[in-house]
Amino acid sequence: MDQVNRYIDSVFSKQDILLEEVVASIKENGMPSISVSPSSGKLLTLLISISGAKDVLEIGALGGYSGICLARGFGGEGTLTSLELEEKYAELANRNLSKAGFGQQVTYMTGPALQSLEQLVSEKRQFDFFFIDADKDNYENYLHACIRLAKPGALIVADNVLAGGSVAADNAMPTRYTEIMRKFNETVANHPQLESQLIPIGDGLTVSKVKE
Ligand code: SAM
Repeated sequence: MDQVNRYIDSVFSKQDILLEEVVASIKENGMPSISVSPSSGKLLTLLISISGAKDVLEIGALGGYSGICLARGFGGEGTLTSLELEEKYAELANRNLSKAGFGQQVTYMTGPALQSLEQLVSEKRQFDFFFIDADKDNYENYLHACIRLAKPGALIVADNVLAGGSVAADNAMPTRYTEIMRKFNETVANHPQLESQLIPIGDGLTVSKVKE
C-alpha cells in the first residue's frame, strides 16, 4: 500500500512548493504532521472542480493543507467554511490560505466541530461539498450532520477510512480505531441517502453523493 501510494504521489503529485511550505510551517509550529497525502489532496481539488461545488465545508483544518487543495478546486468563485478545534491551528491555516490567495474566501469556526455544525444547521446553511478529517470518534456524527447540511447531489468525502490498511486485515483483535473505521465504512456503504465508493488512495477516502 505504501509502495503504491509512493508511486502515485511520484507520478501524479509532482513538486508543489506552496504545499511544501505548508508542511514545513506545520512542523515549525510544533503541530502534528497529519495533513492529507499529496495525492489525496489532488483528488480533492479534482472532485470539487469536476462537481462544480462552490460552498465547501471542511471538518479538521490543521495547517490548511487540505484547505488549499479544496479552494484550488473552486478557484476564484467559491467559499470554504473550515471547522477546527484548536485556535492556534486555525490561525496558521488562515495564514497559509491567505498566502495561497484564498484569504477572502475562507472562514474558520473554532471549537468542537459538533457545536459549529449545530450552529450551521440552526442558521439553515447549505453546502455542496464536505470534507471530514477530524477526530475519528465523531465521524458518524459528522456524516449525519453533513447530510443535514447538504444540498441535493452534494458530495461528502472522508479521509483515513482504511486506518492504515487495518480495516482490511485479518486481525483477531482489532484496535478501537480499526473498529470505528470499519463501522463508519459500513454506515457509508449502506446509507439509504448515499451512493458511495471507497478510493484506496493515501489512507483511503470514501466519496459519497447525497441522493437527489
Ligand atoms: N484536513 C487537514 C489537512 O489535511 O490539512 C488535517 C486535519 S488533522 C488530520 C485533524 C484536525 O482535526 C486537527 O487539526 C485537530 O485539531 C482537529 N480536530 C480534532 N478534534 C476536533 C473536534 N472535535 N472539532 C474540530 N476539530 C477537531
